[in-house]
Amino acid sequence: FPTVTVLGIPFVKTTAANFIAVLQQRIMQKQSTFVVTANPEIVMYAHNHTDYHDLLQNADFVTPDGIGILDGAKILKQPLPERITGFDTLQALLKWGSDQHRSAYFVGAKPAVIDQLRTLLPQQYPGLNIVGLHDGYFQDDDEVVSDIQRTQPDMVFAALGFPKQEQFIRAHRHVTKGLWMGVGGSFDVLAG
Ligand code: UDP
Repeated sequence: FPTVTVLGIPFVKTTAANFIAVLQQRIMQKQSTFVVTANPEIVMYAHNHTDYHDLLQNADFVTPDGIGILDGAKILKQPLPERITGFDTLQALLKWGSDQHRSAYFVGAKPAVIDQLRTLLPQQYPGLNIVGLHDGYFQDDDEVVSDIQRTQPDMVFAALGFPKQEQFIRAHRHVTKGLWMGVGGSFDVLAG
């Protein structure tokens, strides 16, 4: 994708539909992909934290998840077409994953939320192969990471909040060639 740089972060210049289509292609081709859906909060944090800024440079795609970023791009006279939010992207990929019988691993949120998703996700996405669901309150990453390595999911969704989820993804994305995406509070929303 062409990109537009706002506050030092390169954002993909594309529509949500086209972005999701490209992610699906990459999943089918078993290409490793790290997606960050960056809201203005994330951009400001990256602005003040060099490590996190470097981490965002390491992602394959950073999307504009907030109207403030579109405003910034407009001021630079390089407008971005629309927001690409974490929650919408997650929902689109789960729907597609259900239709195409793809596999997904979910890590993050409180144990009670994960318990709800254990029941809800198979109802809402019957064709999705849910290879793992783990809450986001673990002391060391090993157990979760070896689970991901063993199950080789097409998609890993990490709802650990930022910057934790991006740090987790950067540290472990090499264990499987799939799509890795930080989704913030999305599991809480999915659980209702
Ligand atoms: N969370 C987690 N482990 C942690 C800290 C947070 O799993 O150590 C979860 C938390 O339960 C919530 C999500 O991460 O589901 C963060 O949501 P929030 O809306 O605070 O994050 P943001 O969307 O701003 O990144």
